[in-house]
Amino acid sequence: MRVLVTGGAGYIGSHTVIQLVAAGHDVLIVDNFSNAKPAVVHRLESITGVKLPVHAFDLRDADRTEHLFAHEQIDAVIHFAGLKAVGESMEQPLAYYENNLGSTFSLVRAMARHDITKLVFSSSATVYGHNAPVPMKEDFPTSATNPYGWTKVMVEQILRDVAVAQPRWRIALLRYFNPVGAHPSGTIGEDPSGIPNNLVPYISQVAVGRREKLRIFGDDYSTPDGTAVRDYIHVEDLAAGHVAALARLASTDRAVSTWNLGTGTGSSVFDVLHAFERAVGHDLPYEVVGRRAGDIAASYADPGRANEQLGWTATRSLDNMCADAWRWQSQNPDGYPDA
Ligand code: NAD
Ligand code: UDP
Repeated sequence: MRVLVTGGAGYIGSHTVIQLVAAGHDVLIVDNFSNAKPAVVHRLESITGVKLPVHAFDLRDADRTEHLFAHEQIDAVIHFAGLKAVGESMEQPLAYYENNLGSTFSLVRAMARHDITKLVFSSSATVYGHNAPVPMKEDFPTSATNPYGWTKVMVEQILRDVAVAQPRWRIALLRYFNPVGAHPSGTIGEDPSGIPNNLVPYISQVAVGRREKLRIFGDDYSTPDGTAVRDYIHVEDLAAGHVAALARLASTDRAVSTWNLGTGTGSSVFDVLHAFERAVGHDLPYEVVGRRAGDIAASYADPGRANEQLGWTATRSLDNMCADAWRWQSQNPDGYPDA
C-alpha cells in the first residue's frame, strides 16, 4: 500500500516508517516539524535505503492537505501528527484543541473527498481517565483529566461518528500505553525539546549528564514499592502494532476497531530506574519528591484483543527498552543535530 504517515518525523512515526518500508509499503510523510528535526528524515533514508517524500506543512492548512491528496496516490493514512504534552495542554488548552482537532478535520475531509477510507489513529491509554481498574480493557468508558486527553477522547468520538455516517470507512483507534526505547541502531530515538516530562527521557538525560538527578514523583501509592506503575512498551513493538493494524483494516468488516497496544505488564518507577542502571552499568542519582498532580497509581493494558485480532504481541523486555534508549541517548547526547 501507499501509506501517508502524518507526524512521520516524530518519535513513534519515525519508528513506524522504518517498519512500514520493511513490510513492503510505500511511505510518504507529512510533518510541520513543530516537534521534529529534518535530520530524522536523512537517518530514516539511510536505514530504509529508500527516498522518503516529505511534505513539510501544517495539516490544519486545508488547502495544502487537499492539494496533497489530489496529487498523490494514497491508499491509507496513519495519523500521528499532534501535540502531546499533558502539562503544556493545561497551560495552552486552545492550542491543543486547535492542533489536534483541526489537523484531524482537515485530514479526514480530504480523505473523504478522495474516497480514502483506511485510517489508523494514535490514541492513548489516557482515554481511560482517572479511576479505571487495571488491566484496562477497550470497552471501558472513556474520559480525560486534561485538554490533551480530551483531544484523544474527542477525536475517537469524531471518527466513530464519521464511520456511522459513512460505514465504508475502516478506522483503527490504537490506544498506546507508555512508549519508550529506540531503534536498535541508536540513530533514531526520542528527542524531547526542553526539560523532558516523561520518565525514560528524563532518566536518559540524567545518565548522560544533562540533568542532575531523577525526581521520583511519590513513593506512597498503593503499589508494590509505593511508586506509580505503568505499562512501558518498546517503540519497536508499538511500530509493529501499526503495521499489523493496517493489514487488519484490509480484511475486517468493522468500520471502527479499538485496540490497546501495551505489554500487559506493569512496572514501577523504581523498576524502570533499575533497568536503566543495568543498561548504563552504574547507579543513577535520584530523590523522592511529592506526587505529580493528575498522576494515577497504576495503568496497564489488557492487550488480549490486539493479541487475538491482530496476531500481534509486544515481545521486548524492560531491560531491552532501556538498553535501546541508552544506546540512542549515549550516541546522541544532545538529540538530533539542528542542521
Ligand atoms: P512527536 O511529537 O514526536 O510526533 C508528532 C509529530 O507530529 C511531530 O513530528 C510534529 O512535528 C508533528 N505535528 C504536530 N502537529 C502537526 C500538524 N498540525 N501538522 C503536521 N505535523 C504536525 O510525538 P509522538 O510521541 O511520536 O506521538 C505521536 C502520536 O502518538 C501523537 O498523536 C501522540 O499524542 C500519540 N501518543 C503518544 C504517546 C507518547 O507517550 N509518546 C502516548 C500515547 C499517544
Ligand atoms: N515520573 C517520575 N519522574 C519524572 C517523570 C515521571 O517519577 O521525572 C513518574 C510519573 O509520576 C509516572 C511515571 O513516572 O508515575 C511515568 O510518567 P510519564 O510521564 O513517563 O508517563 P505517564 O504518567 O503519562 O503515564
